[in-house]
Parts: sequence; structure tokens; C-alpha cells
Amino acid sequence: MPELTAFVREVVLPGGPDVVPRLDRSACRFKLRHGRSRIDRWGLFAAESIPARRRVIDYTGEKVGRKEAARRSLRPRLFFYRVSKLRSIDGAVGGSGAEFINHSCEPNLVARVRKGRVTLVSLRPIGRGEELFLDYQIAGDVPMLACRCRAPSCRGYMNRPPRVEMRPRGAPPRRPSAPYLR
Ligand SMILES: [Zn+2]
Repeated sequence: MPELTAFVREVVLPGGPDVVPRLDRSACRFKLRHGRSRIDRWGLFAAESIPARRRVIDYTGEKVGRKEAARRSLRPRLFFYRVSKLRSIDGAVGGSGAEFINHSCEPNLVARVRKGRVTLVSLRPIGRGEELFLDYQIAGDVPMLACRCRAPSCRGYMNRPPRVEMRPRGAPPRRPSAPYLR
């Protein structure tokens, strides 16, 4: 087999269209499975019931800086979780399977970020067989991505909603909070 160039190995292959979820059991606190999603190809599902406010799965992957994330953004599919303005976790390389969790505007999971580690926690009890969802709240200088979650409160896009500014006249604008997502 010919040796792959770094570009093919690091940029092209991990985001290919044929990528199939692989669950890393050591990152899961509950029984989960992957399956076909009504929203977007693959999704992750609860294979047992999960109580509220419990750690469900860690979002793992290769930690990359802004420059490397931009290089990898040529891929057709992206699995980045942005932990700060400078750092992202690339779930396409060493991902736990959490990178296949789809977006919904009415999620049943929320992300907790501590010291660069990302854990997804249940927002409410999740029944066996339910698909897991996260509100991506895509931040940063990226185009608006249409949402197809079909939740009653769907806001129509997966990006972080713009903040409503409530400040007295003449006061300086508030600085945006830390960005949160891939
Ligand atoms: Zn939506």
C-alpha cells in the first residue's frame, strides 16, 4: 500500500462520506448504540433509560488549534467541538462516537466543559430508544447552517442565536461569553 500523504491521512480520510460511528465504550456511562437517524444519516440512541442530570458520554478526539481546525475544515463532514476561541476537539480522530450526536433545538443533552474536557450530561430523563440530541450553538465566524430538527421550538438554524443587547445608551457592548461548540 503506498504511503499516504499527511494531507490525505489527516484531512481527507477522517471526514469522508463513508464514516460509520464507532462507540468507545470506555467513554460511555450508559448503554448507547448508533443507528439511522430521521434527522441526518447516523445518530446516537439510548439503549437503556437514562435519568436526568447524569453523565452520558464524553466528547473525545484530537485536540487541535485554530490553524489546524481551519486546515481540516476542507472536509465534507466536520466533527469539531470548540472548547475555546483557540482550541477544538476533532471527534473525527479518536472520537468516542459522541461526534455523531445530532443537533436539535430541543436537546436532551447539554455539554459541560472543564479544563478542556467535554462531557455530555442528560437534561431530563431519556427513555430507552430515544435519540440523543445536543444544541450545537455553533459559534464563531461561520455561515448560518439550516436546522431540520422539526422540534416545535426550532429556531431554524444550528448556530448560536444572536444575543439581545440590553444595555443603557452609551454603555460599551458586553463582551461575548466563551464560545461553546464545534
Ligand atoms: Zn431546530
